[in-house]
Amino acid sequence: MSGERAREIVGSADFALPRPGSGRTLERFAALTRLCTEDIGTGRLVEAHADADAILGEIVGGGVAPGEFWGVWAAKPPRPRVDARLVDARWQLSGVKPWCSGATVCTHALVTAHTDAGIRLFAVDLRAPGVSADTSGWHSPGMLTTDTGDVAFDAVPVDRLVVVSAHPDDEVLGAGALISSAARSGTEVVAVCLSDGSASHPGSPTLTPRELAEHRHRELDAATTVLGLEPSRWCGLPDGRLAEREPEIEAILAGVLAEKPVARTGLLSVWSHDGHPDHEAAGRCAQRVGDAHGVPVWMFPIWMWHWAAPGDPAVPWDRVRTFSLDDADLARKRAAVEEFATQIRPLSDAPEDAAVLGPHILARLLRDREFILT
Ligand SMILES: [Zn+2]
Repeated sequence: MSGERAREIVGSADFALPRPGSGRTLERFAALTRLCTEDIGTGRLVEAHADADAILGEIVGGGVAPGEFWGVWAAKPPRPRVDARLVDARWQLSGVKPWCSGATVCTHALVTAHTDAGIRLFAVDLRAPGVSADTSGWHSPGMLTTDTGDVAFDAVPVDRLVVVSAHPDDEVLGAGALISSAARSGTEVVAVCLSDGSASHPGSPTLTPRELAEHRHRELDAATTVLGLEPSRWCGLPDGRLAEREPEIEAILAGVLAEKPVARTGLLSVWSHDGHPDHEAAGRCAQRVGDAHGVPVWMFPIWMWHWAAPGDPAVPWDRVRTFSLDDADLARKRAAVEEFATQIRPLSDAPEDAAVLGPHILARLLRDREFILT
């Protein structure tokens, strides 16, 4: 791997390149040319690290520290982009920087970001929480070995995350691992389940809609317990008819925000263009309430995975952030989903009692990643 090799080279005791402007530029170029001749991926990554060292030297004095491996990420397409803003006298970056060489091996990077005063350059420790790399979208053979990908900066801090689901399982299927990990790291997670889930088995000879709703309420409580969350707020609105109840839903969500008006709150909802009428109603309401209260709104897709093709123009892919789940996260999410007995197993042999979440659907929703639209 070029990334590992480059890191090894810059970490070796005898690695030193003369800085530009020091009168030994030819020596610098000759060393980089040698590296690129050996392996262009390695050479490019070493060059970026050496550039960062020179830039840091010029701007702030000093340079890179031992053990660090720097990238310089300055691509500026119109979208996606990284924005920086001052919060409590500290700069916070959010957004996605595309085409980052060394995306998963660099420890630090110089990153350009948009501010109110134009584009500025930031030195970023990439090991900080909230930084994630996704190299899966890079297919140019010429740069394949440079570990190039998109890096997301998720610096928007919240103390309280209000999670909005249309049905009692959306939040677990769409973002169970993320919300579980947010709760474990100290964020207050308030899950709000809008509908009673009573319409998942129309005509069932086994359970009446009311009984089904009771089962699903218990299943959701068990699943949120597995994820380490407080029980979801059960709103009990009619499954399948949320679009008729949007003013009421907005009032519910505004009420949850009003409980802690000074908390830094974020809304996380099922996606407003997910292709299911209830999901879309939930997403629309979350967006309107978030906008009205100046609260950031993030969304997770569920049904999108059933209809979207790769690169589907109906999906704003540049807003999709990918989060890799570790084994423990994924195990917790799988265990939580196991609690949804009425959805993952047939209620009986009758066709009306078939499992709603068949194996192929679960396989899609239980991958080792979760996806959030920003
Ligand atoms: Zn749903």
